Amino acid sequence: TQFTDFGLAQPVLKALEEAGYHTPTPIQSQAIRPAMEGRDLCGIAQTGTGKTAAFALPILHRLSLEKRHAPRRGCRVLVLSPTRELANQIAESFSDYGKHLPLTNTVVFGGVTIGRQERALAPGVDILVATPGRLIDLVDRRSLTLEGVEILVLDEADQMLDLGFIHALKRIVKMLPAKRQSLFFSATMPKNIAGLADQYLRDPVQVAV
Ligand code: AMP
Repeated sequence: TQFTDFGLAQPVLKALEEAGYHTPTPIQSQAIRPAMEGRDLCGIAQTGTGKTAAFALPILHRLSLEKRHAPRRGCRVLVLSPTRELANQIAESFSDYGKHLPLTNTVVFGGVTIGRQERALAPGVDILVATPGRLIDLVDRRSLTLEGVEILVLDEADQMLDLGFIHALKRIVKMLPAKRQSLFFSATMPKNIAGLADQYLRDPVQVAV
């Protein structure tokens, strides 16, 4: 399989071509097609396997097909990441693979002043990458609304729980529209994580590498 076999939108293929990527990694081969179709996904994959592109490419493809504007103070795609470093990397990947698309993304995390993040969110953004604590703060300050979220990505779910984000995570998911696509990734799948996946995903495609 090559990236050109998936039927990805032309601007996404162009960015891949420029990055010099031709052959999907195993997680990409399994995840891209169902995610493009709007299916929920439960993926067991470590960092370094290409999992960021496995969710970013189909998401960019879907957003490019339906040019809806993000709601004010809202986003169309919410990516939850356990750490600021990972959040930054994910946002960079979206910028990179999405560079030929007219889509906006922003990243928010704790430990820095909130004002700039509030101003970035005010007009609405297509893709928001966030750590859970700061996301809750922004919602509580009414600088962010989650009612327009079409796609949720939960990245490194096991690390998220290890870092004590379970309550934040549960609060966040409760605020999301029930009708959404959810993509769930974890390096390991112990019982508590599998339970969460069960709760949050609808008829998910299981992928493991
Ligand atoms: P990740 O597992 O998402 O952190 O990605 C690991 C690294 O692999 C990143 O530096 C990506 O840019 C790179 N990468 C992702 N997909 C591919 C691919 N299909 N071919 C070559 N490199 C890739």
